[in-house]
Amino acid sequence: MTSFLHFAQLCQNIERVGGSLEKTELLASFLVELDDDELAVVASFVMGSVFPASSDMLLGVGPSTLYEALSKASSCSLPDITEMLKRSGDPGLVAAEVMKNKQPTFASFLGEDELSILSISDVYSTFLNIARSSGKRSQGVRRKNLRYLFSQSTPLEAQYIARMALEDMRIGVGEGIVRNAVAKAFDQPTDLVENGYNLTNDLGLVAQKARQDRLFELTIIINKPIKMMLAQLGESASSALQEMGKAAVEWKFDGARVQIHKKGDEVQVFSRRLENVTRSLPEIVKTVKDHVRAESAILDGEAVAIGEDGRPGPFQDVLKRFRRKYNVERTAALFPLKLYLFDLVYLDGESLLDRPFQERRELLEKIADPEVTADQIVTDDPREVERVYASALEAGHEGVLIKNPTSPYAPGKRGKNWLKIKPVMETLDLVVTGARWGEGRRAKLLGTYRLACIEPQTGGLAEIGWVATGITDEMLADLTELFGDKMVAEGGMEVELKPEVVFEVAYEEIQKSPNYSSGYALRFPRLVGVRDDKSVAEADSLERVASLYATQRGRNGTR
Ligand code: AMP
Repeated sequence: MTSFLHFAQLCQNIERVGGSLEKTELLASFLVELDDDELAVVASFVMGSVFPASSDMLLGVGPSTLYEALSKASSCSLPDITEMLKRSGDPGLVAAEVMKNKQPTFASFLGEDELSILSISDVYSTFLNIARSSGKRSQGVRRKNLRYLFSQSTPLEAQYIARMALEDMRIGVGEGIVRNAVAKAFDQPTDLVENGYNLTNDLGLVAQKARQDRLFELTIIINKPIKMMLAQLGESASSALQEMGKAAVEWKFDGARVQIHKKGDEVQVFSRRLENVTRSLPEIVKTVKDHVRAESAILDGEAVAIGEDGRPGPFQDVLKRFRRKYNVERTAALFPLKLYLFDLVYLDGESLLDRPFQERRELLEKIADPEVTADQIVTDDPREVERVYASALEAGHEGVLIKNPTSPYAPGKRGKNWLKIKPVMETLDLVVTGARWGEGRRAKLLGTYRLACIEPQTGGLAEIGWVATGITDEMLADLTELFGDKMVAEGGMEVELKPEVVFEVAYEEIQKSPNYSSGYALRFPRLVGVRDDKSVAEADSLERVASLYATQRGRNGTR
């Protein structure tokens, strides 16, 4: 049985090294030592998720529960904990410090190894107790279990227990590093590991199979989501047709991706991030039960919030549905979702991944009613594609998808067999009002920037979100220097900046959002460059944001 302390030490070492190669090496040598159950747990733990994303287990620990438990376990008062948090901005370091102060004096004569009691599986089963608690007393159960964990832990263990409880490990390990570490640990080709992961979305299972040299056994498993096939941005309809010859053309619906697993009467729905969202989307479950006839099937499609006028509602409304865990029925009545199915990857016990898209589509049409199936035309005529494109925008959707009818379903791949064509949005020039320090290797660099537009009535600034994409390592250093003399306040990881710099920002869409004072947010913002030539007063106004929002996809601005 491996102690949790060893895991915490691994995390500390990983956190200390900068490069992904070193992180991978450290993790690989740790994985080799674990038993099968521990392998499965560590593969998720190390990425900061207690349970794999596909599981419907939810930890549900908020910061206040965590700090109350920490306070009870250590007899450090809540105000003191809050004060420490303000200083370090890292719940993990606070937990470690608090537990260090609590240690009995004799502890200083002992090595940390001698003080460690918890095993990896103890921590996992306690988190499981937390996730299983429900109802009125659940808050108390969560607190009690966390308090138990802290009271049993050494300071280093407390550091990572706190971070895991908030599912934010801050050690820079993501799927890619775990995948490569599994390949290295068990001497398996990386693409075989990646393929197994794309099929099962379960790194724990993949690690177990890799150790047994049986990765080839991995295949689609019903109720375990597979990575979704993704679309590349295409240049134009005609260039797409030139490459594919005949192509299948569908609307690019303005909603959220769903992967639906049906087994007998049971239906499970997974989001684009492969989270189990079944409980939030009862009408999607019902639609599938009513309109899909198959003993078992895995379906791919889009859920769209349709407004009273029959047009798609804002993406924000769809998100409200996906995130909703309580009062599901009430939110469902306010923002009902409509399902459009466009692919079928598994049917009655058989994987269809390698079948050409055209064949999968024919099977889809056989088992699903037309009212839940996305319309499609197959054509080699660019004018036909233009017609579908215009009708998609007219109906308030995003554009079209042009798909190669002969292509297999490539889980997790963004390739040329699915091309998306949508209008190019104009960029916005926005004022930088704040920033966040990076983590690990980027700890001394400002990596994420807060943006605002001009509020014309007051002449003040209205916030519209953050940008972190499109910034290269080189730019990071330059930008950090640029903002060096503009910092007016600092708290935790964030700094307030004098509003003096204008960024040109590209994005995929403007959404309504209650999270920012402008009332809008940008979807997929990307830094294009610094507008040295523009003063803050020349930045874009809230009016321009509102008018771009209103015109995108033929929206009339009333929603
Ligand atoms: P993007 O999010 O811009 O990368 O575009 C890809 C997304 O478009 C997919 O993940 C789906 O959620 C969505 N989508 C809408 N309609 C379709 C369609 N007919 N086929 C495939 N994806 C679609």
